[in-house]
This record gives sequence, C-alpha cells and structure tokens, in this order.
Amino acid sequence: MNKTNTSQTSILVTGGAGYIGAHACKALKGAGYLPVTYDNLVYGHPEAVKWGPLEEGDISNRQQLEMVMQTFKPAAVMHFAAYAYVGESAEDPAKYYRNNVAGTLSLLESMRTCGINKIIFSSTCATYGMPEQVPIAENHPQYPINPYGRSKLMIEWILQDFADAYGLKFVSLRYFNAAGADPDAEIGEEHNPETHLIPLALDAALEKSGPIRIFGSDYDTPDGTCIRDYIHVSDLAEAHMLALDYLLTTGESDVFNLGNGHGFSVRQVIEAAATVTGCEIPQVESGRRPGDPPILIGDSTKIQKILGWNPVLNQLETILETAWQWQKKIS
Ligand code: UDP
Repeated sequence: MNKTNTSQTSILVTGGAGYIGAHACKALKGAGYLPVTYDNLVYGHPEAVKWGPLEEGDISNRQQLEMVMQTFKPAAVMHFAAYAYVGESAEDPAKYYRNNVAGTLSLLESMRTCGINKIIFSSTCATYGMPEQVPIAENHPQYPINPYGRSKLMIEWILQDFADAYGLKFVSLRYFNAAGADPDAEIGEEHNPETHLIPLALDAALEKSGPIRIFGSDYDTPDGTCIRDYIHVSDLAEAHMLALDYLLTTGESDVFNLGNGHGFSVRQVIEAAATVTGCEIPQVESGRRPGDPPILIGDSTKIQKILGWNPVLNQLETILETAWQWQKKIS
C-alpha cells in the first residue's frame, strides 16, 4: 500500500469497483482528487478501478480499514459498498443487515478512530416503500417494504445519531433508478446476476439472452406496467461531487433525493431501447415481481436548490444510448 501522490486530497470510496462507485471515482479524479477504492470485490470489478489505488478489503474489517485511512488520510468517505438485490434481501436478510448495517457501523467507528468526520452515503428511494403520492419529496414517510430498504433506512438513522452525538457530517443521497454508462464507455453496468431492466433489455436486443420479461402488466398505470424515474449514473456521480464540496466547506448534514422527476413505464423503456438500438426486443409478459410499487418518481427540487445540481444526461434516449455503447463493448 503506497500513497504515491501526496499533493492530491484523497477520498475513500467504499465500493469503488462497483457500478456507481466507479463513476464517482472518475468524477473525483476529474475534479483533482485521489479516489482510493476500498472494495471486497464480491460484486465489484477490479478492472473498473482506473482512477486511483484499489485496496481490497471488507468494510467489516476495522483493522484493515484503519490502516488504509491512516495511509491515505482521506478528507471524506463516499460509501457505496452495499448489497443491493431486493429479492435476495428478502431471502437472506441476515446477509443484508450484516453487510449493509453492521458493515457501515464498522466503517463509521473506524472513521471516528481515525478522525474522519465526513461521509456521503448511497441511500435509496426503497426507503420510502409504497409511495403515498408522487413525485416523492424527502419528507415523504419512510416505511420500506423489504430488508434492503430497511437496511438503508437504518443506516440513515445511524448517521443522524452519529451526527448528533459525535459531530459526524453526512449527506445521504436517495437514488431513484440509476442507469446508463460513462459517455466515454470506460465503465458501465455489469451486475452478476443482472436483474435491471435496461441492461436486460439491451441483452435481449443483442440476443445474449431470451426475451425480456415484463414484470406485471396489470398495474394501475396508463399501459399497465410499472413506472420508474431513471437517472444517468454520471449525473449521480456529479451530485456526489456537489455533496463533497458542500461537506468540505460549510455544509451541514442533510438528505437529498436524486431523480429526474419524469417517469417511464417498462413498456416505454423497452420501446425506447428498440429505437436506440435499431433492434427488435423480444418480450414476454410475466407476473408481478414482489415488492414493486407501481410508480416511483422523485422530486429532486431540494438538491437543485441547495447544491445547484443540474442533471445534463437526463433524457431517456441519452441514458439508453450510453448504456448501449457500453453493452456492445462488453459483448
Ligand atoms: N423489470 C421488468 N423486467 C425485468 C427487470 C425489471 O419488467 O427483467 C421492471 C421492474 O419490475 C421495475 C422496473 O422494470 O418495475 C425497473 O426495475 P429494475 O430492476 O431495473 O430497478 P428497480 O426499480 O428494481 O430498482
């Protein structure tokens, strides 16, 4: 473990080898920081770590975490490391509470030991549960309906308690549906197993898989399929940069939604994917997936007003086009 360039401010990025974490590392490097990835590589890809060192380790390993913190002396932590499969979380909740909740507690305690008091946390719209109204603002009640959402909400509470008791400064960002890929196609989405609509639709276009299954066509929505708010992963990464500036200057702890405020149905996404790719996308109607709310759309006015966030890759076609370039590259 060598800290090579001492002139750069380091940021510790847990889960920096994952989909969103890697895009944040690219944005950090572009802004002159040294992103130090800390990742257990269970779901992360070492080849996605291109903009700073990779330290392989688990967030539950305090000794190793503290060694890395002492070496790189990060000014803040961006915390992406988590398990994020809703279905799996219902089948094996212990895995989610251990890794997401207990793992984050370990990270926060190591930060305290090492005198690091700023963190940006990847939260989720899954903390809201079934929406009472859309678009969903940050003050919407939070009643998550699966262990994944509950694990993320527990972490939000822990962060608030650490802020009150120990002076931790945090920004929690509640993502809606992260999608798309780096416009330079240097990194992109590569989950294993893949469960997300856009990469699966593109796989179907490339005939890498069978038809895309439409999970539920009897929802109370205009075309009967679920509506989601898709946000480009690079716009998400930019929001992390704004949150970092905010925390490193005068910022107080806060929570922000990250969505585009526009919803697209499953059928609309598949149609748009067919247009972007020029391929037919074979599809079959399938039953509802348990725990899917009919409509999730985020109100992100707060982060636009307070942090000046301005998503630029916010058209569904742009999101699909970047995802398509990436998907073709890795095929
Ligand atoms: N979906 C689908 N077929 C798939 C994968 C997803 O119909 O093979 C639907 C899913 O039910 C949801 C939407 O597409 O309504 C987005 O799902 P995804 O898994 O991409 O993200 P999530 O909303 O679960 O975070």
